[in-house]
Amino acid sequence: MSGFSRDASGRAVLAGTPLSELVESSGVGTPAYVYDLGAIANEARLMVEALSNPRHLVAYAVKANTAGSIVRRIAQTGAGADVVSRGELEVALGAGIRPDRIVMASVAKADHEIDAAIEAGIRAIHVESIEEIDRVAARAEASGKVAPISLRMNPGIDIDAHSHVATGHREAKFGIPLTELGAAWERADRKRSVKVVGLGAHVGSTLKSVDVYVASARSVCQVARDRLKSGKTLEFVDFGGGFQIDYGAGPVPRPAEFVAAARQLAEREGLGSMAIVVEPGRSLVGPHGVLVASVVQEKRTPTRRWAFLDAAMNDLIRPALYGARHRIEPIDRAPSEPSFYVAGPVCESADEFGEHPLGDPLPSRVVIRDAGAYGFTMASSYNGRPLPAEIFAEDGVVKHVSASPGRDAWVKARLQA
Ligand code: PLP
Repeated sequence: MSGFSRDASGRAVLAGTPLSELVESSGVGTPAYVYDLGAIANEARLMVEALSNPRHLVAYAVKANTAGSIVRRIAQTGAGADVVSRGELEVALGAGIRPDRIVMASVAKADHEIDAAIEAGIRAIHVESIEEIDRVAARAEASGKVAPISLRMNPGIDIDAHSHVATGHREAKFGIPLTELGAAWERADRKRSVKVVGLGAHVGSTLKSVDVYVASARSVCQVARDRLKSGKTLEFVDFGGGFQIDYGAGPVPRPAEFVAAARQLAEREGLGSMAIVVEPGRSLVGPHGVLVASVVQEKRTPTRRWAFLDAAMNDLIRPALYGARHRIEPIDRAPSEPSFYVAGPVCESADEFGEHPLGDPLPSRVVIRDAGAYGFTMASSYNGRPLPAEIFAEDGVVKHVSASPGRDAWVKARLQA
């Protein structure tokens, strides 16, 4: 049994075992992220199967969760990686992902990052501007190599999502505008030290509709077809990631539905023999990780009942950054009224997680659901709070624990600064 559920007595269960038991047996306190490795691997496997041909590539967007235990498990399913920094590249390689299954994005890669990508021999460097074509070409020339690049286009598509996760509209910093693509091809084709192997787009995250993904994919396919018609070659089209998960607002299309629709579109567009790359992050790990926190104190005011946790915006910043809502529930009994406003101890009014049915009396521990993606990777030590612990479970047992670096390490590092 895998994934989040509740047992007959109402206790929250992950990876087949009550969460409170997993936390107890791990020997770490709260706040702690807990992940179900089996459910994550299963999610990745379904994605790989949805593409159904080994020439295609599921490039896991490592930024969603960089934990080695998770990246290694995803790699075992045949998935590759989409990385956005040298650090992520080194994690992907260290986790056993073959370089030819890695793509690298980012609008402003440092020279040492471009060099590392060329040296490793990755599948493609996604270039996001004409200026970047020159930079990659110069770095490749200096090392006497030919760098495989793929053009990330900006199709000018608005999505129904928080503005911070919309990346494919005309004002976004990402990708090459459609109007500049002709010049970009020309520039790239003139350079002997780069080879254009791909074309792609990623219009943003938390996509709730297959249609918008297909609209972006259609734009990519049309440009790819024109490129092929002009007698040039192209090895792959990359449709990006961005599939929303159910944070409690109701069901959304399954990730495989997005991918199947894009694959069918590519076939209809006459690109059936071309490799397809997709870049899912959130959908592989988000639903299969939770943040367990302890209730520190209750506070009643004339207008609100508060429940204060030992987890805060430094541990999970999505609510403060995107206005995101994560379900927060008692760990050892089902959610019930009354509801409490839940907040952490950080000195920011943004350190609030919304109103949740925690019941009276307050439970000693709560579970913050669907926190497997963009949780730990965005955590910080703000307010002198050490990073949270991470617990990796599978088939009911804890496989690995990554302890919090702790307060003493933080104090020492700051005093040495
Ligand atoms: N690809 C690129 C280029 C991205 O910027 C992102 C997310 O920011 C992703 C893929 C993954 O998006 P998601 O985690 O929503 O699937």
